[in-house]
Parts: sequence; structure tokens; C-alpha cells
Amino acid sequence: MNALLNAKESGQRRWMYPQVKKGTYYKWRARLSYVYLIFFFTGPFLRINSQPLLMLNFVDRQFVLLGQVFWPQDIFLFMLASLFFLVCVVLFTIAFGRIFCGWICPQTIFMEMVFRKIEIWIEGDANKRKKLDASPWTNEKIVKKGGKHLAFIVLSFLIANTFLAYIIGSQGLIRIITEPVSMHWVGFLSIWVFTAVFYLVYSQVRELVCTVICPYGRLQSVLIDEHTLVVAYNDVRGEPRGKLERIPDPVNPRGDCVDCGLCVAVCPTGIDIRKGTQIECINCTVCIDACDQVMDKIHKPRNLIGFYSENMIRVGEKLSFTLRMKAYTAVIVVLLGVLSYFVFSRTDMDMTVMRSAGLLYQEQKGGYISNIYNADIINKTDRKHIIAIKPDDPSIKIKYIQAPGTIGSGLSAKAVFFMMVPQTNIHTAKTDIHLQLWMDNRLIETVNTAFIGPVN
Ligand code: SF4
Ligand code: SF4
Repeated sequence: MNALLNAKESGQRRWMYPQVKKGTYYKWRARLSYVYLIFFFTGPFLRINSQPLLMLNFVDRQFVLLGQVFWPQDIFLFMLASLFFLVCVVLFTIAFGRIFCGWICPQTIFMEMVFRKIEIWIEGDANKRKKLDASPWTNEKIVKKGGKHLAFIVLSFLIANTFLAYIIGSQGLIRIITEPVSMHWVGFLSIWVFTAVFYLVYSQVRELVCTVICPYGRLQSVLIDEHTLVVAYNDVRGEPRGKLERIPDPVNPRGDCVDCGLCVAVCPTGIDIRKGTQIECINCTVCIDACDQVMDKIHKPRNLIGFYSENMIRVGEKLSFTLRMKAYTAVIVVLLGVLSYFVFSRTDMDMTVMRSAGLLYQEQKGGYISNIYNADIINKTDRKHIIAIKPDDPSIKIKYIQAPGTIGSGLSAKAVFFMMVPQTNIHTAKTDIHLQLWMDNRLIETVNTAFIGPVN
């Protein structure tokens, strides 16, 4: 990493004043960010099956994704989803570099599409902002700076509330807002701590999150190779760079880069992409838009800066959906299929049944043979339910020692019972029995277990 990128030689922070050039990529990023922001702010209030779209309640260890409730018992699914996410990140980075950072990461979206826009609206373009920061404190500067920071605090407060709603649910947030503070000290303080963090991140830390703090940027250097598509400067076409000549020199022809510096001026992380791929590049594509505008003006083809792999620039490899990318996409699709299968085939209750170890069968009155069983039942729903265990064969009886009764949301219960099978039904030493788990008179699942008894 370039140690001086964010610091002056004196050691002071080098404050970034990126210009904004609205080109094709910027417009697409803006559209994507509007969709993203609508989802972000409405997400905790949208409901599927009376559950939020997304809730990550680490406090009560309850998680909701697309209306499906997950409990700590679903740790297997959580690990599978984490693995899927990790593989996606790795494969996506190998194929497309750090494009996630510039186009999807909330840090960049809020910084560039929300806070930066407010800053420009209040303080003006890059040159005006630079001038304002360097100027002495006048009434105008106090009003502008005060207005900007007030707007940042209000926005950070809104983000903090929404963020908290993703953790404790929208109803939990509404309770904190509408009930006395004394009843919700922790929630109330959390909102202000989150507000302070978001305010500091977007008003002070800014691009340092991407260039210094976030570990994903460091990962990039080990994941990308000469086939990876990244935002890159085509130096074969651009060099030797130099100011635009009225009459081109036929002996020493120049490249297409007119060394205007616009690509550096617009970069939110302050890098010069012409020095090659750097880990501070968040693939935001702003420099592509800026350079395209320059190329349009000087009547040269666009894409001097564009999406290139090293091989596209060096050996003229064509842009295509390569076999490698197809393979990565296939792996992601397969993993997504496996994850979806487990998520959507997951039942509201889970039951495991074990015959009591070490106990043999007993003969009972009326020609029955009995075995003792232990059952563990987990309620994965957000409500309590009345539970019953029934054999699918009506001639088999169950006599509870400990009945499962009613199980609360997210809780588990034990049941201990005799299973009584008519002796006439027993033809082998081990008989397969199907036990049904009923929740409020609804059949949830059927579990197989073994029954031992004397062979007729
Ligand atoms: S914007 Fe394009 S032409 Fe201008 S310095 Fe950057 S690469 Fe060269
Ligand atoms: S070099 Fe270009 S793509 Fe990379 S961060 Fe800077 S402006 Fe964005």
C-alpha cells in the first residue's frame, strides 16, 4: 500500500476533495444506490409471513431471512450460508476484482451517493470545498459547516435507527421510541452510539475505511491475477502520455493520455490508476467516466480507462465470459441451490427420537410389548405451539412419562414415553416404527425409529 496516499509528507491527513463527473457508470451506480437505499430504509418494516425481511438479532440469537426464522439450532445453515458468502466473495473477486466495493458496499453507497451529495449541495464542488476548508472562519463558513454537520448527524441518526431495527426488529425499535427512556436504556444508548459511529465514519474517517481499515482490500492482492477484470488504465494505448499536441509529432508519436489528471481528481481514494492496479482502488468506475469525457472531447475512442484484465491489455485477449468465469458462476449457482434447498426444506419443528439405551423391551397387559424412548423437540417458529407425538400405525399406543406439552418460541422440550406395539405386529427383532410430530393438529414431520421385541 502507498503509505503516503492518505498522508502528507508532514504526516498530516491528506484530505480528499474528489470531483464528481456524471457519466454512464455513475448514472447506473446512482440508480442501483436508489434501489439499495429504498430497501435499506424499508427493509425492517417489510414483512413476509408476519416476519421481517431481514433481522439479525445477536442479542436473543434469533435471525430472520426473507421471513424465515432461524435459531441457534440452525447453526449448520448459518455455517453453510457463511461458507456460501465467503466462496462468492472469493470467486467474485477472482473474476471481477473489487467491484463489490464500488457498487454494492454500504460504506461506498452511503459515502458517495448520500453524504458526498449533501456535502456538494451545501459546500459546492471540489474546488469550492477546498477553498472553504482553507479559508478563515467567517459567518458563511460557520453556516455551511454547521449545516453540513447537522445534516450528517440527522442522517446518521436515521441510519442508526434503521440499523438497530435490523438487529432488534422494527417493533423493538418502535418500543424504544415510544416508551419512556428509563425502560430502554440499552436501546436508547445504542442508537446514540451507532449515530456517533456513523457520523464519524462519514464525516471524518471516510475513504480510510476502504483503504486502511477494511480487510477485503488486502485480500484483493492475493486473489486477482492476469485474467481478473478490474478498472485499469490501458497503458499500451495511453503511453507515452503528454499534453495534447496541435500537430502530432510523427517521429515520437504520443499515446492517448493527455495527462489532464482528471482521473486522479475524481478518485475518492486519491489514487492515480495510471500507476497500475492498486489495492486502494474500489472499482467505483468514476475515473472511467471522467476519462471517457476527455476522450470524447479530443475525439479519441473511449475506454482508455475501462474494465480490463492484465492479459487484455498486454496480449489483446478479448473481453468474454471465459471458461474460468463460467466455472466460478457454476460453483456459485450450485452452492446457492444447496443452500436454498436446506433453507426451504427446513421444518418449523425438529424432532430426534432415541430408544433409551441399555433397556430391553417389556411385556405389557393386553398383548403389548413396550420400549422406552426419549425425544428432543425444537420449536423454530416465533410462537408457542402444542405438540403431540403419534405413531402412524393406529394399533400402536404411546404412554407418556413426560409429555412434550406446549413449547415456546425458539425453545426445546424433552418427551419420555413408552411405545406399546401389539405383539402380533412384531415379526423381526427390530421393527421400523414411524412417529409423527404434530404441531397444533398439523403434521410437521415423520421420524423413523427402531423398536425391539420378541419375534412371534
Ligand atoms: S483522465 Fe484519461 S486522459 Fe486524463 S490523465 Fe487520466 S487517463 Fe489520461
Ligand atoms: S482508481 Fe478509479 S475505480 Fe479505482 S477508486 Fe479511483 S476512481 Fe474509483
